[in-house]
Amino acid sequence: MNLVIMGPPGVGKGTQSYELGKSREVIHISTGDILRMAVRSGSDLGKKVYKVMTAGDLVSDDLMMELIKNRLSQEDAQGGWLLDGFPRTAFQASALIELLEEIGQSINQVLVLDAPADEIIRRLEGRITCRVCNETMNLTGFGHLKPVFCPFCGCAQDAERSKPALYQRADDNEDTIRYRLEVFRKKTLPAAWQLEEKYPLSEIDGLGTPEEVAQRIRSVLE
Ligand code: AMP
Repeated sequence: MNLVIMGPPGVGKGTQSYELGKSREVIHISTGDILRMAVRSGSDLGKKVYKVMTAGDLVSDDLMMELIKNRLSQEDAQGGWLLDGFPRTAFQASALIELLEEIGQSINQVLVLDAPADEIIRRLEGRITCRVCNETMNLTGFGHLKPVFCPFCGCAQDAERSKPALYQRADDNEDTIRYRLEVFRKKTLPAAWQLEEKYPLSEIDGLGTPEEVAQRIRSVLE
């Protein structure tokens, strides 16, 4: 099964993708995670994209197409995949359609998650991420205490980088979030409508608990 999950930042794409990857046995390909890993490793790609990402802007279409072509050609992607965070522009959507035709693949379902801007800002401003396992969590779940240990992997320290495991992403602040939301509405929604011309697309309400949203997704995929 090949799936695409789209939606504004903070709508819960990562959480839902993690579950979907496990339950549908498809490989989860998050372009945001791949780029963040490149930034952390200090690779040439990481150096090129660091500023753009911190500002909440989009990385160039050419770079993204190169990255996705490469990733989809790898062995582990041949049994099905879930694209999370790609495509983000109309150009990427049409280039993806072309690429899939070339390699004889298709998309079974495009899922577009959405939620009101205020809810997204509330979620993202309190979001913390673990450098070690990449899980995200919300500060509101910890009361007045600032968490030190990641509740998912148990780490307090990222030994490789000698930094605390838990951190707030540089692009998770209100101004940048508002800008990223605008980028989503202006650039990414047109990409979704472009995919809809070719593949089944469903809009999913992203409000509620992760389990409620997962249930809505399951009912679309059944
Ligand atoms: P995400 O984790 O999906 O929110 O992505 C974080 C950042 O990575 C985005 O704000 C962009 O700067 C960059 N990025 C991820 N995927 C793409 C894409 N498909 N096209 C352009 N930039 C991307």
